[in-house]
Amino acid sequence: MKYVGAHVSASGGVENAPVNAYAIGAKAFALFTKNQRQWFSKPLTENNIRLFKENCQKYGYTPHQILPHDSYLINLGHPEKEPLEKSRNAFLDELQRCERLGLDRLNFHPGSHLKKITEESCLNTIAESINWALDKTSGVTAVIENTAGQGTNLGFRFEQLAAIIDRVEDKSRVGVCIDTCHTYTSGYNIKTEAGYEKTFTDFDRIVGFQYLKGMHLNDSKKELASRVDRHDSIGKGFIGIDMFRRIMTDPRFDDMPLILETPDTNLWPQEIELLYGLTEK
Ligand SMILES: [Zn+2]
Ligand SMILES: [Zn+2]
Repeated sequence: MKYVGAHVSASGGVENAPVNAYAIGAKAFALFTKNQRQWFSKPLTENNIRLFKENCQKYGYTPHQILPHDSYLINLGHPEKEPLEKSRNAFLDELQRCERLGLDRLNFHPGSHLKKITEESCLNTIAESINWALDKTSGVTAVIENTAGQGTNLGFRFEQLAAIIDRVEDKSRVGVCIDTCHTYTSGYNIKTEAGYEKTFTDFDRIVGFQYLKGMHLNDSKKELASRVDRHDSIGKGFIGIDMFRRIMTDPRFDDMPLILETPDTNLWPQEIELLYGLTEK
């Protein structure tokens, strides 16, 4: 079963996310459980939580169709002590919000070395951050997203994702999310059939499909290996529609949230329909 949806708004309260997802015909959704551009947000109320759960049930969303995303401010690989602590505490708060909402995974960008430490040392810090936060929570999997490799962001090679996973103590609570735009602009040519096959064969060997907990389906405004993160609407960018047809007919991507983060939110209902149309061979 393919669960396609989008990163919908939770403005006015997390309980609105499943309503917004249902309104666009989504069978999955992503959300921020707090304001993604601020360090602190009010705790979720009992009312938020009850309504969120009620709406998920009403519209047919179970945890494996939902992929919450953490704040953009968090850097779990920060080279300096104080900002690292701030990031870790914020990440823990995000995991605890998911816990209270009954959600089973949290998607995040691994971290950036800011040219102050080596890649190796940054990957270590990220893994330590994950271990620290998982130790204080239960039931929520930390889902590392691959990146475009823009700036000093790590996680743009499958080897880097594997290195983090390797250092996480509880392997049952770590996973990955693959973003198609990031994959392409970080240098994996999934646009061609041969490139797609090779990329996901490599992914399986280096990381392993057992760790895949979700996908971000985005086309790309930038070229292969440009290391720039600019999403485009499905079929309108450099990747093109054929790659999305392969994903939609590939059982390795069944039963997990497949989330649009494409720029024109007005197109989401059409994009979801278009993607489901691709499953009919
Ligand atoms: Zn993404
Ligand atoms: Zn992106």
